[in-house]
Amino acid sequence: MLESVYNNCVRCGLCLPACPTYLETMTETSGPRGRISLIKAVDEGRIDLLSPGFVEQMTQCLDCRACEATCPSGVQYGVLVETMRARIEAEAGPSRKPAARFLRRFMLEGLFVHLNWMRIAASFVRFAQRTHLDALAALVGLRDEAVLAPRIADRFFLADGQRYDVDHPAGIAFLHVGCVMQVAFPQVHDATVRMLNLAGLSVTAAQGQGCCGAIAVHAGEPAVARAMAQRNIIAFERSGADVYVVNAAGCGSTLKEYEHLFEDDRVWRKRAAAFASRVRDITEVLDAMEFRKPPRPLDVTVTYQEPCHLVHAQRVSGAPRRLLERIPGLRLVEMNESAVCCGSAGIYNLTEPEMANRLLERKVGNICATAASVVVTANPGCAMQVSSGLRNAGSGARVAHIVELLDEAYR
Ligand code: SF4
Ligand code: SF4
Repeated sequence: MLESVYNNCVRCGLCLPACPTYLETMTETSGPRGRISLIKAVDEGRIDLLSPGFVEQMTQCLDCRACEATCPSGVQYGVLVETMRARIEAEAGPSRKPAARFLRRFMLEGLFVHLNWMRIAASFVRFAQRTHLDALAALVGLRDEAVLAPRIADRFFLADGQRYDVDHPAGIAFLHVGCVMQVAFPQVHDATVRMLNLAGLSVTAAQGQGCCGAIAVHAGEPAVARAMAQRNIIAFERSGADVYVVNAAGCGSTLKEYEHLFEDDRVWRKRAAAFASRVRDITEVLDAMEFRKPPRPLDVTVTYQEPCHLVHAQRVSGAPRRLLERIPGLRLVEMNESAVCCGSAGIYNLTEPEMANRLLERKVGNICATAASVVVTANPGCAMQVSSGLRNAGSGARVAHIVELLDEAYR
């Protein structure tokens, strides 16, 4: 099956300038064309799956999909890297140290599956952040984790089946509440609900939903991801909603691609395809709706950081900009390389800190050159990564989700 994907590559190299790790290293093996050659060699048995050079390249790749979006031959690079990561995990996973195996299982099958566990863990992190105990994280080797951890909110946004109704709705939107978003970004959900209501849609935060499974997909754990997908598909089917709305780009691309998880299951593949056809990023939904203009101008200079999984994986680029243009007084200054990854990429900034920091420095330089006071994005990972980069650089610019800024303009 992989053969039919990698054989589409004609080795033209047009994807190279879009690849963040190639831009940083200027080496063939750290670019998409080199990685595709390696994947082909492994699949044909010419290189060992667990050879250090191959594992390093599968790990160093951000899975940002910039190569896929620029490829004129339509090579589905994401399928290649995710399949190879799953094969590596299946072969190397059992030989990991017991502590590392336990931590991985606890994260993937505990925290991200049982969201009440995540809320308990987030409450501990919040306590540490408020009492400055997090400053001690360096003593137990968790300095990077503490620096990159999002500020846990004072209250969480739970999917308890609550409804936010409007008179004569144009439809019902299912709000994807997610995992990290519910504990770290409840204000983004609040703003999303208000904007959807303003656009004439009733909203349901239906029970039964959970994490999208992106973290399991990227970690090469398709079985875990499948269980998460089934939960969300069932919750949406039961809700009676018309559209499944997502305000985290990384989740959106995974949700839209659930079909890939069920290649060998005809019944679930069909259900996943029907589900995916209803998934929309919040910017797509709002861009398609007519609603009144903001009542007053917002005197602010903004630059837009494109989340990889919105621009490359979902190919959504115009909608966020058109929404920003609806706000009177707002000046949008485009940064250089707005579509180059900031280095966040799920947990990449923890697993590959050196490359992640190089990409973050590059991003912060491009942001600062715009002199914008607000950096708008549409993904929690980008927001956390860019915020930490701006803080370290001593910049006073703030980071906001696009719905937060829209909501500000209307309130
Ligand atoms: S992946 Fe696509 S763009 Fe890149 S070298 Fe192959 S054919 Fe060319
Ligand atoms: S997914 Fe991103 S980092 Fe990986 S090869 Fe493609 S462009 Fe490069």
